[in-house]
Amino acid sequence: MLQEPSTILVTGGAGYIGSHAVLELQQAGYKVIVLDNLVYGHRELVQEVLKTELIVGDTSDRSLLDQLFASREIAAVMHFAAYAYVGESVTDPAKYYRNNVIGTLTLLEAMQAANLNKFVFSSTCATYGIPETVPIPENHPQHPINPYGATKLMVERILADFDLAYGLQSVCFRYFNAAGADPEGRLGEDHNPETHLIPLVLQTAMGMRDCIKVFGTDYPTPDGTCIRDYIHVTDLAAAHVLGLDHLLRGGKSATFNLGNGNGFSVKQVIDAARQITQRDIKVLECDRRPGDPPSLVGSGERARTVLGWNPQYSDLHQILTHAWNWHQTRHASELIQP
Ligand code: UDP
Repeated sequence: MLQEPSTILVTGGAGYIGSHAVLELQQAGYKVIVLDNLVYGHRELVQEVLKTELIVGDTSDRSLLDQLFASREIAAVMHFAAYAYVGESVTDPAKYYRNNVIGTLTLLEAMQAANLNKFVFSSTCATYGIPETVPIPENHPQHPINPYGATKLMVERILADFDLAYGLQSVCFRYFNAAGADPEGRLGEDHNPETHLIPLVLQTAMGMRDCIKVFGTDYPTPDGTCIRDYIHVTDLAAAHVLGLDHLLRGGKSATFNLGNGNGFSVKQVIDAARQITQRDIKVLECDRRPGDPPSLVGSGERARTVLGWNPQYSDLHQILTHAWNWHQTRHASELIQP
């Protein structure tokens, strides 16, 4: 007899990385329930593109979680739901600590009460702060320099303690710069407001913005602009499925960096985007953005060795091409022809 597919609860599954993870889970044969408060997520992605069940609600709603865990057989939780604007976390830290820390703690307590003990967590390289060594290894000291990074580090610590005390096993992924879009163009990056470099550069190429601001040209890097490790969102999503498989096979809690180990400067990203889009992209050189470390590059070696992770789209041109295809479709009506 065929076995029923396991059901995974994906919080934040209506967001950028979460939606790509849902797609990857479905392709791996899992059934998915999405829990999303839709503050930044997109209902149509879940219902029309991914065609999966959507529960609109917060991870801090304990009675909703208790009901859900009592009524459905859920094998594991993949947790993406979080606020993730670094600048906003500085001006409104309460919003971040409440949602990212208290919301997650409530979710973990509900899981513990329901004897559910497998958890995949979306953490960040922002937990490291200013790196002492690059590429950053997983055992690098963690001294976040903004409340967003602090909230993610707090959850990592909660998870370590929950494992010891209650046997809740987790895989934490510390991402570098998520970028790109589903290679088949079904999903992509659609933040509102948009603050990330690659979508802003592509919107500039489309004529939706006059120019791209380059935040800082006096960093101690070869061309003076910040260096980041851009990792394809589909490769991130694939790692999450491998992390889940690891836990469901009885694997121990573990933490992994997800990066390509290659850094690109802001100017290199803009030059590559000019080549791919064949459009003019005007640049405005500005002051540094507070809280930006000069260089963040991470090795994905541990994920490769332990989980068998094998990123498929590590080339920056491929990442930009997929993002460009998505942006052209997404913003077709707003597109200004050159
Ligand atoms: N950046 C920039 N102009 C922008 C947005 C970002 O120069 O309009 C730079 C930013 O300072 C950083 C890099 O691009 O060095 C990547 O920023 P992003 O916000 O995409 O990701 P982060 O590294 O903050 O997670």
